[in-house]
This record gives sequence, structure tokens and C-alpha cells, in this order.
Amino acid sequence: MWLALLSTLALATAEVCAQCRVDPRRTVLCATHLDEELTTLREERSVLARSKDSAERIAALQRIAALTATHSNAPSPNVARLLADGLHDESLTVRRRALALLLDGQHRDETIKGVLDGWRAAQRSWREFDARLNLLASELSKGSSSMSRQDLEDWPAYIESLLAALGEVHDERAYKELLGLFKWPADRTPGRFYVAAARAALAVESRKGVESVLEFALTLEAEIGAGRVPSRFGPGNSLIGSMMRPLDNAVMHDVEDVLEALVDFARHKQSAPTPVPLLGSASTWRAWFKAARDQFTERMTLLE
Ligand SMILES: [Zn+2]
Repeated sequence: MWLALLSTLALATAEVCAQCRVDPRRTVLCATHLDEELTTLREERSVLARSKDSAERIAALQRIAALTATHSNAPSPNVARLLADGLHDESLTVRRRALALLLDGQHRDETIKGVLDGWRAAQRSWREFDARLNLLASELSKGSSSMSRQDLEDWPAYIESLLAALGEVHDERAYKELLGLFKWPADRTPGRFYVAAARAALAVESRKGVESVLEFALTLEAEIGAGRVPSRFGPGNSLIGSMMRPLDNAVMHDVEDVLEALVDFARHKQSAPTPVPLLGSASTWRAWFKAARDQFTERMTLLE
């Protein structure tokens, strides 16, 4: 749940080099590590460019990421940049692996830039994917399908990893993008994305984030209650419905999951007790926020 802490732990196991250093404006590697980097990046870049096998490309990315392990005090921007290119790979498996490697103690600014670019590319791809979903729903009702089950599982999982990453990098620009998900149209946004975004936003522990998550949950609850967030793919007991259920619009259960994340967060911050029951308590929730808000920092705090 508290992802920032996990990545800090991973970093702590890596080695430090007394000769590599970070100047105010750039990373300076010692002769040994610079030489190692130049050789490895040249070799792996060519693997990435010519290999048609996603497992080979993942292995290349792993060898690139491993360069940082011997000088974790001075991660190279070149390594992070090449890993970030992996977020534009044609294979989602490669993209997910590249994202995990990038988030594991690599050069901070290049990681943030890479996650932001990757997120923008993924949003564009998601719109295409969503159009294919619509098509799939109509094809399935005629008994055929043009999308693999793998696609149906990998796409939303990748989007969720990116949402977590946008919180995990602890950066104002990335955080703005993350909270921006709460402005996506309620119709055509899978409910699970809201839950993932809420968890990632709360992990950052900013007052603005807590307020955004709460206001969003209460709005979504009202919208669903008023019947304004229809199911796109039919009931869960139909063939299409059961396959597409994880990609369908939000339902009350998703609202409960978001509010449950707020309850966990309140417990973690030892704030005033949260409303019972979770649903139908909009005014009590707002009173809770008013009572607890001073416990949360106004802006996000950087965990470095
Ligand atoms: Zn060194």
C-alpha cells in the first residue's frame, strides 16, 4: 500500500561507489562505471532495436537497470532514459517490466519525465483500446471476437501500474496527472481505475489529494445512485458481461472500495473516526474531513 516506502527499501540493498557523484546539475560517473555504462548501453540498445522477442527485450532492460546497482548513490540519467523508452514498447509485458525497473532507484528526474511521457502515451492507447472494447461487445453478441483475453487483462493492469507510479514518484506534475483521473468521464472509465487512482493518491498523504479522493467518491456515489453511470456491457451473468465486467463503468462496490481506502488512510494517520456506514454518509464524511484536514500536509511532502 505505501509504495514510496517499498521502493526506498529496495534501493537500500544496492551498492554505493565512492568515486561516482551527483553534482548540482549532473551525474558524474567514475571511469570504471562510465566505461561499463557506455559498453552495456551500446550492446543493449542494439538488442532493443532489433529483437522481435519480448523476453529478449526484457532481459536487455534488466541488464541496463542493473548498471545502477553498483553506484546507487549516483544513478545515471542515460540508464533511466533507456528504461523509459521501454514504456513505449509494442508489448505491454515489456512496458510493465520497464516501469517497475524505472521505479526501482533510477535517476529521479528522468524517472519522473519517463513516467509522465509513458502515462500520456498510455492514455492515447487506452482511447483506442476503449474503442475496440465497444466493437468487441457488439462482435461478441454475434459470436465472434477480435481481442485476446490477454489484452483484456494486460491493458487495465498496465494503466493501474502507471496510476500507482504517478503517486509513487512524489512529484507535483505527476500528482496533478493522477488527480486528473478523477475528472475522466464517469461513463467509459472502468471503476477499478478510480480505486487504483484513489489508493495511489492517498499514499502521497497530501490534504489536496485526500479532499479530491473524498469529493470524487461522494460525487460518484450520487451519480451512480441517480442512475447516471450505466453498465456498458450488460449484466455480469451474460457472456459479454462476465468477460467485460472488470472493464465496465463504476458500480457502488467501487465507491465502497474508494471509501474503504480512506478508512485505511484515516487509521494510518490516526485521525478522527470515519463514518459508519460508508455509503449514504456524505455530510458525515465532509465533517470528518473538516475535523481531520489539519493533520494532512497542505502540499505533498517529498520522501527522499
Ligand atoms: Zn563509480
